[in-house]
Amino acid sequence: MTPPAVPRRPEGTQDLLPENLPAWRRLESAVREVFELYGYQEVRPPLFESTALFHKSTGETTDIVEKQMFTVPSRAEGGESFTFRPEFTPGVIRLILENQLLKQRPLLKLWYSGPVFRYERPQKGRYRQFHQFGVEAVGSNDPLIDVETIAAFEHILRKVGVTGHAIRINSMGCTECRGAYRDALRAFIQPNLALYCENCRRRFDRNVFRVLDCKVPADRERNEQAPAAVDSLCEACRAHFAAVQQGLKDAGLSFAVDKRIVRGLDYYTRTVYEFTSPQLGSQDALGGGGRYDGLVAQMGGPDVGAVGFSAGTERVLLAMGEETVARAADFYAVAADDASRSDAFRAAQALRAAGLSGDLDFEGRSLKAQMRSANKAGARFAVIVGSEERAQGRVRVKPMDGGEERVVAIDEAARILKGEKP
Ligand code: AMP
Repeated sequence: MTPPAVPRRPEGTQDLLPENLPAWRRLESAVREVFELYGYQEVRPPLFESTALFHKSTGETTDIVEKQMFTVPSRAEGGESFTFRPEFTPGVIRLILENQLLKQRPLLKLWYSGPVFRYERPQKGRYRQFHQFGVEAVGSNDPLIDVETIAAFEHILRKVGVTGHAIRINSMGCTECRGAYRDALRAFIQPNLALYCENCRRRFDRNVFRVLDCKVPADRERNEQAPAAVDSLCEACRAHFAAVQQGLKDAGLSFAVDKRIVRGLDYYTRTVYEFTSPQLGSQDALGGGGRYDGLVAQMGGPDVGAVGFSAGTERVLLAMGEETVARAADFYAVAADDASRSDAFRAAQALRAAGLSGDLDFEGRSLKAQMRSANKAGARFAVIVGSEERAQGRVRVKPMDGGEERVVAIDEAARILKGEKP
């Protein structure tokens, strides 16, 4: 009989193995530390939300809503359908409104980190289950808060040693100046509309800004000459954008204005930005964000300004470079003979209780094999128990780097392992 085939994980998902996790944890700690330095508080919305939430906020004509959602259809006639979050912002705004958080404070500064789901064609740096971290600052129109979100993202990257990335910013304008821009864009595309792909032709009517997001090379080339939102800004939006740029300069952050950044979601207004890394190849976006001044009101909340970003955790990890962290433990407890196995276990327990990390053999292997395991586990010390040590109620402490062995009581062994005794 052939053995059954080993199950495989779904395409576009990842298994995070023990050797991957030190880098993940390092990034996660940096994220938490930096966001807290900047006065952001953590929130954890559920992994899935009502499907309607994303239709209403992310936008009907976005790639995400049109083709990338992991949706669980309604289980009952006329019942609710749910979708695993393809991004955090809608869920976080829902959480703010449902829990009336804006009543407690006029400006909410929240951060999040966790898995996100998009049905995409998987490739290096692009997954169907990936992770994002980011912030939402809700309740202010101050351009300085746009700057602060960019500074916080930059701070995290610096803290984990990512360098060589670029910050590009743009302004999409507000609902006022959008009208003029929409007309300008339509007038530009109209004469060549028949040449555009089917997707673009459909989007021309439903949401013409989406045409600028098209990835078809010929369409992209045509769009090179398209008018840019930043050229049709109203007075207030121009002032806001100038203040953001001044704020970034004052904060010592280098950036470039890039008229082509539009961001693929419906809710963005005014400032939009992207962080890219040349180390990442074709999927070079580390993260991005911007203002979404209309979204909170559109979702039934007060008319307040808001700004946020989300970063791709896997992308930042790629930019941090491969990090192989050697396994390390304080001790490996070794039984010199079978009769000493339970004593070796007791010694391990006493050392763990003292805050020292370590392991021991559970296969009844020889002394020599146990010493090999101690080496492999990266233990700093072997703590050996044999009949001689047992008789004295002591253990033998052997530094794995070849230092001097000592036979001592377990409490003293703990002190030696902690470096409290020479
Ligand atoms: P977006 O809101 O689509 O700009 O996503 C924010 C960030 O998440 C991007 O800049 C990427 O770093 C990351 N990201 C987006 N989609 C994926 C994906 N499918 N796999 C891995 N990371 C992604």
